[in-house]
Amino acid sequence: MRESGETMTEQQDGSVAQGSSANGQSSATLDGSAQAGARVETMQRMKVDVGGGGEQKSSPATENVFEVSDFNAYYGDFRAVRDVTMDIPRNRITAFIGPSGCGKSTLLRCFNRMNDLVPVAHNTGRILYHGVDLYDPRVDPVEVRRRIGMVFQKPNPFPKSIRENIAFGARIAGYKGDMDELVERSLRRAAIWDEVKDKLKQPGTALSGGQQQRLCIARAIAVEPDVILMDEPCSALDPVATLKIEELMFELRDEFTILIVTHNMQQAARASDETVFLTMGEDRAGYLVEKGPTSEIFTNPRNQLTEDYVSGRFG
Ligand code: ADP
Repeated sequence: MRESGETMTEQQDGSVAQGSSANGQSSATLDGSAQAGARVETMQRMKVDVGGGGEQKSSPATENVFEVSDFNAYYGDFRAVRDVTMDIPRNRITAFIGPSGCGKSTLLRCFNRMNDLVPVAHNTGRILYHGVDLYDPRVDPVEVRRRIGMVFQKPNPFPKSIRENIAFGARIAGYKGDMDELVERSLRRAAIWDEVKDKLKQPGTALSGGQQQRLCIARAIAVEPDVILMDEPCSALDPVATLKIEELMFELRDEFTILIVTHNMQQAARASDETVFLTMGEDRAGYLVEKGPTSEIFTNPRNQLTEDYVSGRFG
């Protein structure tokens, strides 16, 4: 695995041409400049072309960021996620719910190839990201993780100043613009600027848990991702801090696509547009039971297993 992040592909112009891919899929391009100095600026205006000859696969209103088909995730011989097929729409909040151990976090981590970092992890099937196979060997996982950022269960600011928490990643990503401006913009977008603007030199770790989580969101969005994955981002927070994060998610949805794993049913019900319900079979492999608009999943699910779960009868 290449971890330098300097270029996203094997090609000199930094593009991943998939038209000639060995698996015979339709042509698709993740294109962007490999010039390290212009990296973030270039990424900001970078478009992901979908389909051969510029043909658009779906209208913007229904555009999918991810298309998952027959996806299985394994740890060694153990299958943690079985045969998942679904689409994830753009500029929506999609919540993943289901009993503990059904593979929600595993599946989430597969959307930005974080699970690659687990030595025994492997998978089969396909996840297309804007039409590009995320697991194509020519796709750089470092670039994938920049475009598809992640916020973790426990807030994990760097042991650095609040300012540096934003600036550090941006600098590594090659940002050459006005750093003060980027720091302020990112903190404003994460709804934490007013609380920290007078103490940017203080350590990020000195903030409250909720503020730390918003700082981590600011850090994630500073490198202009397209998607933000959130793995139980509020489980360590009190109810007031939790509501702030949920409000923030709704604001960010205009610009980003958000996938969130939550064990909190009320949170899924009030803070998502789409809900994916997974459960486990006897082999302990998690599988998708039902996916749909959150209001339907919670008030009128099609499957009895979903009904039992959302009404608290099991799980
Ligand atoms: P959930 O998020 O729904 O609680 P996880 O994705 O954490 O579920 O776990 C799904 C299954 O995969 C569980 O059986 C868990 O023990 C297993 N698992 C998760 N991470 C690892 C790992 N790093 N190595 C081996 N097994 C793992």
